[in-house]
Amino acid sequence: MKQQRLKSLNVPLLMTPGPTQVRENVRRVRAAEMTNPDLEPEFFKFYRKTCLKLASFLNTKSQVLILSGEGMVALDSACASLTEAGDRVLILDNGIFGEGFADMVQVYGAEPVVFKGERTRGLSAEDLRAFLEQDSDFKFATIVHCDTPSGVLNDLKEICPLLKSYGILTVVDAVSSMVSEPLFIDDWGIDICMGASQKGFSAPPGLAFVSVSNEAWTAIENRKTPVPSYYCNLPLWKNYYEELWFPYTPPIGDIYAFRAALDNILKEGGAFKRHRKIAKAVRKAVIRSGLSLYLVSDYCGSVTAIRVPEGLNGEEIVQKMKEEYGVLIGGNFGYLKGNVIRIGHMGENAREKYVSETLKALQLTLESLSISFFADMESVFLKETGKKKR
Ligand SMILES: *Cc1c(COP(=O)(O)O)cnc(C)c1O
Repeated sequence: MKQQRLKSLNVPLLMTPGPTQVRENVRRVRAAEMTNPDLEPEFFKFYRKTCLKLASFLNTKSQVLILSGEGMVALDSACASLTEAGDRVLILDNGIFGEGFADMVQVYGAEPVVFKGERTRGLSAEDLRAFLEQDSDFKFATIVHCDTPSGVLNDLKEICPLLKSYGILTVVDAVSSMVSEPLFIDDWGIDICMGASQKGFSAPPGLAFVSVSNEAWTAIENRKTPVPSYYCNLPLWKNYYEELWFPYTPPIGDIYAFRAALDNILKEGGAFKRHRKIAKAVRKAVIRSGLSLYLVSDYCGSVTAIRVPEGLNGEEIVQKMKEEYGVLIGGNFGYLKGNVIRIGHMGENAREKYVSETLKALQLTLESLSISFFADMESVFLKETGKKKR
């Protein structure tokens, strides 16, 4: 019944690895009456309190900022604010987002040096150590916590302290891992950590988050040349609260909504556990059924990447599943386009009822394309999570 209703409204069950489903209490808050956020001291307090709550959730004493624009604004702000022409920047690359940082720092005149890892598993700290013994003259390094197209999870707890031991600042893209995986920004030595509203937080797209350590602020303040951007200029934000001044009007409705989404997560507690359990059960269902996972190890709790059976096209599977069953999963891009599809079980998506419906729809879709299965994915999943098939 529910699925039919969704179908008739033409709103699919959203199971992409971002944007994710937004809970009703978050959508309602977004519609609240608004004040002028540039002029209202109460809003400055609300903004600051929201930043502090987020910092505490991410286990950091670093300043945390909420920027307007989706995830890329956080990435661009970090690159624009840290990079000066001629800087050598180490790009840790074992996926599409990892690779992308090379282009981003080049925009600001850096010389990117790429450390390439295998695509189907986490970066090896041992190989990185060997690399750094030969060459460690970098201002900062970029690392992706979960590289979303493959879902590979990199071990920040090993990698960041290693980089720090060579005096290299660490810039971490945690856009798709925040909420799904634990993050200990201070304990792990992360100088700049970046997130976004539309992934694990399950808030609408439109906000980006950055934490900036004191060491990172010092590096930014010691630049010889000004930050070559206005919109992506982190130092402009540093004293917003003392000065009661924002560099641009904050999107107040989005920030209200984000706060409600964050409060949902804080109230729930244990979001990591929920993600782990769901992710593990999805992998089991995939393997038992005879499909294969893209990764060989180091799976993130937020997304599962599945290899497309021989002879089929991933993008066509995604379309067919949406049209026939009203469930939208993720296709892919870059070298994974067509070959790997993804179930985004992050944030509100990571609920048994949604994931089981998704697995059922995926199996029916593939069966209609003449793929046979060794097991019923929905049943395996539900058995694993301790629920019976309805
Ligand atoms: C989603 C995402 C971003 C932000 O990109 P979008 O333009 O919002 O898709 C950045 N990094 C990672 C790892 C992401 O998953």
